[in-house]
Amino acid sequence: MRVYGVTGWKNAGKTGLMERLVAEITGRGFTVSTLKHAHHSFDVDQPGKDSHRHRVAGAKEVLLSSAARWALMAELRGADEPTLETQLARLTPVDLVLVEGFKADHHPKVEAVRAAAGHPLIARDDSSVRALASDVPQPDVSIPVFDLDDTNGVADFILREVGLIAPDPAPADLAPPKLSNDCFALPAGVDWIPVDDALAHLRASMACVMAEEVIPTKDALGRILAADQVARRSNPPAPNSAVDGYGFDHASIAKGANTLPLCDGRAAAGASFVGVVPPGQAVRILTGAILPAGVDTVVLEEDTNASPTHVAFEGPVKPGANTRKAGEDVEAGAVALKKGQTLRPSDLALLSALGIAEVAVRRRLRVGVLSTGDELAEPGSTDEIARTYDANRPMLLSVADRWGFQPVDLGHVADDRDALAKRLDSAATMADVILTSGGASAGDEDHMSALLNEQSAMQMWRIALKPGRPLGLGLWQGVPVFALPGNPVAALVCTLIFARPACAVMAGGAWAAPQGFAVPAAFTKRKKPGRREYLRARMLADGTVETFASEGSGRISGLSWAEGLVELPDGAIDINPGDPVRFVPYGSFGL
Ligand code: AMP
Ligand code: MG
Repeated sequence: MRVYGVTGWKNAGKTGLMERLVAEITGRGFTVSTLKHAHHSFDVDQPGKDSHRHRVAGAKEVLLSSAARWALMAELRGADEPTLETQLARLTPVDLVLVEGFKADHHPKVEAVRAAAGHPLIARDDSSVRALASDVPQPDVSIPVFDLDDTNGVADFILREVGLIAPDPAPADLAPPKLSNDCFALPAGVDWIPVDDALAHLRASMACVMAEEVIPTKDALGRILAADQVARRSNPPAPNSAVDGYGFDHASIAKGANTLPLCDGRAAAGASFVGVVPPGQAVRILTGAILPAGVDTVVLEEDTNASPTHVAFEGPVKPGANTRKAGEDVEAGAVALKKGQTLRPSDLALLSALGIAEVAVRRRLRVGVLSTGDELAEPGSTDEIARTYDANRPMLLSVADRWGFQPVDLGHVADDRDALAKRLDSAATMADVILTSGGASAGDEDHMSALLNEQSAMQMWRIALKPGRPLGLGLWQGVPVFALPGNPVAALVCTLIFARPACAVMAGGAWAAPQGFAVPAAFTKRKKPGRREYLRARMLADGTVETFASEGSGRISGLSWAEGLVELPDGAIDINPGDPVRFVPYGSFGL
């Protein structure tokens, strides 16, 4: 159980602080109980009251009860005073127990201080005192000091300390870190680099480059958590019924046939039963209703016969049957989702169920997409046969969108080094990462690679990969650039294999290795050693995987025909129908 203390000398204001904290914290939707230690007599020690007379007469325990509350009083009669732990164990589980007094125990505490009372600070020699609530400034203490009347601030502090609310988020506009200048440099002497080595190198170079912001949970689909999310309260918050039926106290029923009188009223979700169900009686209860006092077990409606006044059913019924315990799904204070998680619809359900209405997320990664090449034209804009319609830009912009990032259309630029440099200059102000396609080889018109080579922070990676030619990686004014091959098939494969996990890390998430499945091949293929190969592929109804008829990397129709990629290992391999191959559906690449 989460426990926090309020301590202080006489007249320091602890009872007032306790009272305000209980009101504040319950007002925020948490359940709070209190435990008070007194060195003097209690209110209930007032002579003359019935309870006092019963106890003085010698009763061991007195249970006082009314329609509004009950109170159990036990007489120690000289026995040792029970410890704090023993007292806490008597309480029904709640989100937080505030303890007044028990100064010598080691639970964390806030100390109330009123200067006029003139006492020395307890905090001076007691490390369990974690903060002061003082009516005067306390410049020479090293723990947080709140104003005695700053109930809100003290409540925030306590709730953070016990994990009921998230730790202070970093200031939202804190400048994000930058990648280091030489992050894409390959070790000297590396010529052709295997895919796995390239991935390992890329992974080691990547870091989150995004600042964070706080947004409503309902708008957070696809966003990446910037902090662990802690359950504000338990789910379910209270024990409740899992079915429609009748509830009763298990200890009071028979193993065999039972006919129990029904209490007036019923317990429904959102409309709790008021009062106590006496032993040997039952109450009508509906799914989701909080178990009324006196009910710990529910019998399913279908297993009963009921009249307006009685319910009959056959025992035995298991104790606690058809009920859900408080916190059986998630306990208040537990980490429900971790920093770095990309939020899916099911995650929004979990956060909402736990009362987390706002989340700290990373700002959306802006992915700039630029096409290069003299031959490129807008789709359908010309009939000149020398022109190629720009297929990569709509493809890569929509890939960024599918990944939950913000696509930024950087347009098309001709094979002109100055124009390209200018465009990259402005792109670096509009995007957090830039994907270019075309011009990445070593030919006359390959200005992208030429520009990259002029920049010391840029590198061409010759990756042992088919389809895929050199992949350019570098920083343009601090912004990472992926210079992809122009060929749409190679551009997509390089994007899925390299840009996807790298962008995920830059966006604040985890390195994303695609999930693949071993599936029997429906094709024959003989592959030479030396490079990894990706084939456009799709599943057949019989559970085997077929590949596109042509491996030509200009065949854009095969990308569209496919539903994923078959990944063939770096070494030589002979594949015959029925042999297992690794199939990675487009969905595993987040498409
Ligand atoms: P490059 O890498 O510039 O040598 O281009 C390789 C091939 O891909 C050439 O046939 C280009 O016309 C083609 N290509 C380059 N960019 C695109 C694009 N954005 N859309 C379609 N094809 C392209
Ligand atoms: Mg070109």
